[in-house]
Amino acid sequence: MDKNARIYVAGHRGLVGSAIVRKLAAEGYGNLLRRTSDELDLRDQAAVASFFEQERPEYVFLAAAKVGGIVANNSYPADFIYDNLMIEANVIHSAWRTGVTKLLFLGSTCIYPKLAPQPIREEYLLTGPLEPTNEPYAVAKIAGLTLCRSYNRQYGTRFISAMPTNLYGPGDNFDLQNSHVLPALIRKFHEAKLAAAPTVTVWGTGSPYREFVHVDDVADASLFLMRHHEGNDIVNIGSGEEIAIRDLALLVKRVVGFGGELAFDTSKPDGTPRKLSDVSRLHALGWQHRIGLEEGIAGVYEWYKERL
Ligand code: GDP
Repeated sequence: MDKNARIYVAGHRGLVGSAIVRKLAAEGYGNLLRRTSDELDLRDQAAVASFFEQERPEYVFLAAAKVGGIVANNSYPADFIYDNLMIEANVIHSAWRTGVTKLLFLGSTCIYPKLAPQPIREEYLLTGPLEPTNEPYAVAKIAGLTLCRSYNRQYGTRFISAMPTNLYGPGDNFDLQNSHVLPALIRKFHEAKLAAAPTVTVWGTGSPYREFVHVDDVADASLFLMRHHEGNDIVNIGSGEEIAIRDLALLVKRVVGFGGELAFDTSKPDGTPRKLSDVSRLHALGWQHRIGLEEGIAGVYEWYKERL
């Protein structure tokens, strides 16, 4: 990727896309293409085709997706599968048609089977049933990486795929119903602190384990893979470290400085019991994460407070 390459970041206002844009800009890439969803609806095949024909991007970071937490996935399953399938099919097909040099498709570790052995290696893909709460999203993401592999096989394209684990960072969705656990907890503890409330309610039992990776690390890994990875092997992006939701809640409580107690609402779903990615493939390629969880949460909490 030379510094003047025409680079399209699809989903540049999203959590990952905005981090990729920041990273590219910081590294001196000056020819970035971006479109908001109002300007270009990626579900619209004709619109995507004409965008690629006119703008002729050379590199594509496909970070556009409909995303959300456990309740959002459960509530809007049709939107999650339809929007994501259309976005991927349109962008990947147009990237092939217009001769894009290289494309990175970003998926998610929820593509792996619910009961996959832990930590989850890339080759566990399609070896068992998915977690039902986000199956429509996961099936769409599996379709995305299979599109990349299929265009590579049939047409000799260089479309690679990476699967970030649960990620967080500035620009996250802090909506209490539809967000992922970390931004939800930051907001809940902050509001409870201001209101001097006695408790904060954590969903589920607190016993599931999750791994988190900061979005700036995901952006860094994305550029690294765009430069150094080829072929059909998907690559997990994660920290390789896990934490119980209860301990995560205690960590956020400490960072925010909330003095009350935790309560658990077990009428809310736990989701998959454990989800830790095996990051040895990424480590073997020469990349490791840098941002620790406590430092990352503290940074996001500062960002959140500044925008209130
Ligand atoms: P998942 O990783 O796909 O299951 O998605 P989430 O990030 O939404 O949830 C992760 C875990 O955190 C689940 O076990 C949730 O029940 C738990 N959790 C605890 N409190 C919250 C909360 O306030 N919001 C969300 N979204 N999850 C929570």
